[in-house]
Amino acid sequence: MLTQKNITSMRAAFTLPALPYAPDALEPVISRETMELHHGKHLQAYVNTLNTLVKGTEYEMSNLEEIVCKAPAGPLFDNAGQVLNHTLYFEQFRPVGADGPSVPEGLLAEAVRSAFGSFDLLKEKMGAASTGLFGSGWVWLAQDVQGGLEIVRCPNGGNPVTQGLVPLLCFDVWEHAYYVDYRNRRADHVAALWQIVDWRVVAGRMR
Ligand code: MN
Repeated sequence: MLTQKNITSMRAAFTLPALPYAPDALEPVISRETMELHHGKHLQAYVNTLNTLVKGTEYEMSNLEEIVCKAPAGPLFDNAGQVLNHTLYFEQFRPVGADGPSVPEGLLAEAVRSAFGSFDLLKEKMGAASTGLFGSGWVWLAQDVQGGLEIVRCPNGGNPVTQGLVPLLCFDVWEHAYYVDYRNRRADHVAALWQIVDWRVVAGRMR
């Protein structure tokens, strides 16, 4: 007989989100080797660990965002955060020179101008936030409840949803994201990422 406990433990396991492009499609900004390690090994490990840690907890039926917003600091929060963050990260890119806008458009462009003055100033501020983050973490462009934009720095696996903000764009500044291709040059890596941002995906995250 199915008890409530049996039913609630039947949520499908978290799985590795598929890349929306080939593993070498973002070269030379992100190499195939980095992609295979970062997506295929690091993210897969976070997914596996999350599935192990969530078993038997009150979060067994929760989605990623719910776990990140409700779980206390600790391994479950860290791994759920990393799965959510990397899902947003990998889906926000497209190959260099692919179809689509190379700068923010429409409402997003207006919001960028209103918050930062210009797209160039946003790039400058996100670059400075990335190089200034000590250790491992994430730099986010996030939207507040009034629709305004801000740059948020999160250590480790943090995500601005825990502050009631909507994550729009993220830069992973863990060394595993860039060390194969850029060695210690985090600033060069972050500067190159602007070439592969899919602004339609980013604009589609606005609420
Ligand atoms: Mn990463």
